[in-house]
Amino acid sequence: MQPADKLIMHGLVVTMDDQLSLIDDGAVAIVGAKIVAAGASGSLSGFIGPATEIIDATGQLVMPGLINTHTHAADALFRGLVDDLALEPWLERLWVAERKFLRPDTVQFGAQLAQAEMIRSGTTTALDMFWFPEVSAQVAQAAGFRLMTGPVYFDLAEPDKIPVEQRTARGREFLQQYQHDPLITPCVTPHSTYTVSPQYLQEAQALADEFGVLLTTHASETAKEVTTVSERYGQSPPRHLDALGMLTERTVLAHCVHLRGDEIELLAQRQTVVAHCPMSNLKLGSGIAPLPQMRQAGVQTTLGTDGPVSSNDLDMWAAMRLAAVLHKGVQQNPTLLSAQEVVKMVTCDAAIALGLGDKIGSLAAGKEADIILIDLSRPHLVPRYDVYSHLIYAVGRDDVATALIRGRTVMQQRQLLTIDEASAIAAVQELAQQIAQ
Ligand SMILES: [Zn+2]
Repeated sequence: MQPADKLIMHGLVVTMDDQLSLIDDGAVAIVGAKIVAAGASGSLSGFIGPATEIIDATGQLVMPGLINTHTHAADALFRGLVDDLALEPWLERLWVAERKFLRPDTVQFGAQLAQAEMIRSGTTTALDMFWFPEVSAQVAQAAGFRLMTGPVYFDLAEPDKIPVEQRTARGREFLQQYQHDPLITPCVTPHSTYTVSPQYLQEAQALADEFGVLLTTHASETAKEVTTVSERYGQSPPRHLDALGMLTERTVLAHCVHLRGDEIELLAQRQTVVAHCPMSNLKLGSGIAPLPQMRQAGVQTTLGTDGPVSSNDLDMWAAMRLAAVLHKGVQQNPTLLSAQEVVKMVTCDAAIALGLGDKIGSLAAGKEADIILIDLSRPHLVPRYDVYSHLIYAVGRDDVATALIRGRTVMQQRQLLTIDEASAIAAVQELAQQIAQ
């Protein structure tokens, strides 16, 4: 038995493995980036060697890091700049600010701030659509944060000044660079059917197919979008995407608020993934996605925060709690979406949906060590009868004490170890003075 580099001991281990095993007084042994064993603390003491770092998780819950399947993280720069508007006027105003202020140096600060926020709140993987993805990827490399991102498609010349006809060539460079990266998973991120013409949507899909990577886009977020796209192309966003060959099991559609029954069936048939973003949909007045109907039809559903201008934070606990209670209230049915189902949506199920099921999403031997520790000793978490109930209805982001990604400790007892948070905050505050003007 090889000694572990790190051994997390004496925690309540919520594995999210196939059996959904819970281990009281549990331990997780880590060698390098990987988990080599998860089990009772007593049975794993053989992994202790002279150099093993013991992480005492007494009084803490140990679980896989959370997976956010839709965000625009570096938009953290503009948080609170545009609120209380519908999507269309909201986007117009946000895009003005983005065009004016987004450059590699500003995106770097925004990405640092956002990744600090995500790590602090227990998110260890995010699927991100944003300008200058190479900058966010570099920030993630330094932070040790697991990022899925890649080339953006948008018909108009945008902050990165890349003409749309050059996006595929530039995108290919990004995919080549990160194709085999252990931390950055490249993907292709055309914005939507209303901002990208069919020709470039098809180019984006061809690029994703060439590298066998995932493609993500917005779809059917508002009623107005559905009308616009239907008038322009004679069919709704999901039907339009399907006609272009873009609904596959490697497609993640953000939102899907306005879907007909036949479109839900289509997404289930195509095994397409939906990223449900309830906070953003409510705040922008976009509507309420038919999440229970999608799940009943067999659509793969996951959860996202959306960007910090629409949601207005990157707090997956808020997204989880909202997803769990919203549909109960709307449909007057408290049995919809159990707490355990929602925890699966942000761990094991999300990992599979993103094509990362062999790497992350559960605490089991052979998986990479993306792990968070949650302090269970605080008043709002005592007593505890059902662990999933607490995770959805009681835990908040400040309860996350420690986070590891690929075996590297990125936060220890609320101290960030890989991001210079103070300098990121100072840089963003300085920039914000210009943005505010
Ligand atoms: Zn979005």
